[in-house]
Amino acid sequence: LAQANAGVAGLHPYQAGKPIEELERELGISNCVKLASNENPLGLSPKAQAAISAALKDLTRYPDANGYYLKHKLGDCFDLDPAGITLGNGSNEVIDLLFHTFVGQGDEVIYAQYSFIVYALATQAHGAKAVVVPARDWGHDLDAMLAAITDKTKLICIANPNNPTGTVLPPAELEAFLAKVPSEILVVLDEAYNEYMDPALRAPSADWVKRFPNLVVTRTFSKAYGLAGLRLGYALSTPELASVLNRVREPFNCNSLALVAAQATLDDADYLAEAVRLNRSEMGRYEAYFSARGLGYIPSSGNFITVDLARPAGPVYEALLREGVIVRPIAGYGMPNHLRVSIGTMAENDRFFAALDKVLG
Ligand code: PMP
Repeated sequence: LAQANAGVAGLHPYQAGKPIEELERELGISNCVKLASNENPLGLSPKAQAAISAALKDLTRYPDANGYYLKHKLGDCFDLDPAGITLGNGSNEVIDLLFHTFVGQGDEVIYAQYSFIVYALATQAHGAKAVVVPARDWGHDLDAMLAAITDKTKLICIANPNNPTGTVLPPAELEAFLAKVPSEILVVLDEAYNEYMDPALRAPSADWVKRFPNLVVTRTFSKAYGLAGLRLGYALSTPELASVLNRVREPFNCNSLALVAAQATLDDADYLAEAVRLNRSEMGRYEAYFSARGLGYIPSSGNFITVDLARPAGPVYEALLREGVIVRPIAGYGMPNHLRVSIGTMAENDRFFAALDKVLG
């Protein structure tokens, strides 16, 4: 450990949701429910499944190192030059690439309180200084983030919608913010949950990439597209910025199955529509459930909802585990009384409702 970089020595590993297999083994049962990692509960899109089956015969070969077909397809979707698209092993890897490329010792990285924990981990790992801007209504305070800029600021991270709070920024506010950020500072707009948003609140972020050369938009196939296990994310930027990221990107960082599955899923508009529809209707049931029990929650534009139990959430999380239901404690985000619950199928959500009723008495 003494030999590790200074930032790495003090790091705590990313805490992923408890694996369902682990809990089933512990409880000796086989019907646990996991609502902890903001996954798509529908299973793979049939088109992705067919593409994966067809690609199995080619697995002795390396994947296309440049993701030619997927980048061209995404380029068509967003009316962007495919040369401005960077593919990653999940959008997490893309975020990491951005830090790796642009952030070093002595630099400052600005992000909001209660925003995605990976920004904090990456900042520390790269020996940079975290400038954490207090949240406004659980979301980003863009004026305060602008005021936090110094001549050491290298990167600003914004998750929209934010995880774990589900808050969103009005497109006009975001646009005004981008216009004010000095052009030498990179803005990472993390839109992992974009597809779940109310279309009226969705920013024209792919178009902004052409107007703001210091903007990088990150997206993922892990959420609404249902490919979390395959790991595929991407960044939209200028071709110049993408060419810099490509210098540090590992060759073959995206596997063959992920590449073909992502292409196929992009063609499956019905799958995406069903994922969004289910999320919206079940989100309504969560809101009604919490309201009926006098529990506060943060209105969410993602595929998860964060509930305020008004008491330490750790024991409730543990008791839910004993009922076979895995949710996400977020004390590590500075929210010790909240739990984040991913929106599942109707049956999974019913399981959560019954378990929480039992646990809260
Ligand atoms: N950004 C946000 C805001 C997230 O919540 C997540 C997933 N938890 C990611 C990025 C990374 O997702 P992935 O690496 O699966 O694309």
